[in-house]
Amino acid sequence: MIGLAETVEYKKALKKHVESLTTVVRNRIAVYSDIIDLVYEISQIHLIEKRNEAVIKRLKTGHNLKHSTIRMLLSSVLTVKIKKQNQYFLLGNVSNWQINLRDFKSLKKALNELNIVVGDLLEFKFSKPYSSKMIYLEYLNKELQLLNPIRKYIFSYEDFRDNRKPGGWNPYKLAKLLNLKTCPYCNRVYTNTIMFGSKHVTRPQLDHFIPQSKEPWLQLSFYNLIPSCYVCNSDLKDAQKVSYYTHLSPYEENKNHQLMVFEYWPMNYKASIGKNEKMSISIKYNGPLNDNLLRKKVEGNIKLFELQKVYSEHADQVAEIVRKKHMTSDKYIESIQNTFPKLGLTESEAYRLVFCNYFTEEEFKLRPFSKMTKDIASSVLKEFS
Ligand SMILES: [Zn+2]
Repeated sequence: MIGLAETVEYKKALKKHVESLTTVVRNRIAVYSDIIDLVYEISQIHLIEKRNEAVIKRLKTGHNLKHSTIRMLLSSVLTVKIKKQNQYFLLGNVSNWQINLRDFKSLKKALNELNIVVGDLLEFKFSKPYSSKMIYLEYLNKELQLLNPIRKYIFSYEDFRDNRKPGGWNPYKLAKLLNLKTCPYCNRVYTNTIMFGSKHVTRPQLDHFIPQSKEPWLQLSFYNLIPSCYVCNSDLKDAQKVSYYTHLSPYEENKNHQLMVFEYWPMNYKASIGKNEKMSISIKYNGPLNDNLLRKKVEGNIKLFELQKVYSEHADQVAEIVRKKHMTSDKYIESIQNTFPKLGLTESEAYRLVFCNYFTEEEFKLRPFSKMTKDIASSVLKEFS
């Protein structure tokens, strides 16, 4: 598990994410607000053609929307689907509107309320005490309840995911800015983002830490979108029950990724000197002893992502680290520095040459196995202790 809260890049990405999506969501709110005004106006007009003209002209020119988008948004408030442009007159008859949306005055009030809290929702972060955050969310869910039928069109994860417009904000740009090259849940799989120009090649999956079905208003929230690998997101987490009381988000405080630690236990002498892989690898809670909630959350992650079982597959790498200790009497890094004095290797550079991984905790997000490597190396090489 790699903590993201202390990475330099995340604040930049947060700012860009909130700025970009606030504009997108507010534009959507403005469209719905206009639709309500229009319906009120056109319901006063009896000529069908006039109704069509009014709707199309104002939505198209006022919001620069494609016909397909206009049709989708207009259909979202109705109980019947608008299939052709000449069916826009269906809007004018309020009995065609979804029952929950027929109170236009309250609907406008809820849209105004949402307009005010868009930024809050996009950067909503669970932090202690979690209960106060839950109360705020419950309050918002109640206040915005009227918008439930059109919520997915206003706070649209799909629109964000599929946004290919030049200058548009999407998961590729978010992941690129985060510069996260390994999955924070497992630190075992590369999650590079590769894109050039408008060509999107690959990116990490975005896991909704709290599922969309549970907190739909958080579906675009920065802290709820965790770039992660397919195994952690789809194979393991998927529909499992996750909450801030049972699991740890990578955006919660986890200084130097110390809340969990890797240990290895050799089963025979040869394994103890790294000559075979007969060992068990354990991952344990390493936070404050008296913090039972934190312990439960960290252990919840270890179980959820099956970290012990998954890492057991990598005993060969642990054995290599242990072997290096016994080859050099605990001074492997020093021996490399002394062997090539002209290179003037720093401890960090020598470590990287030896273990093919990063030494400093800020760089752990750049390569798989960085956390395991450092934990095991620290536990067997005296020079780190
Ligand atoms: Zn993963």
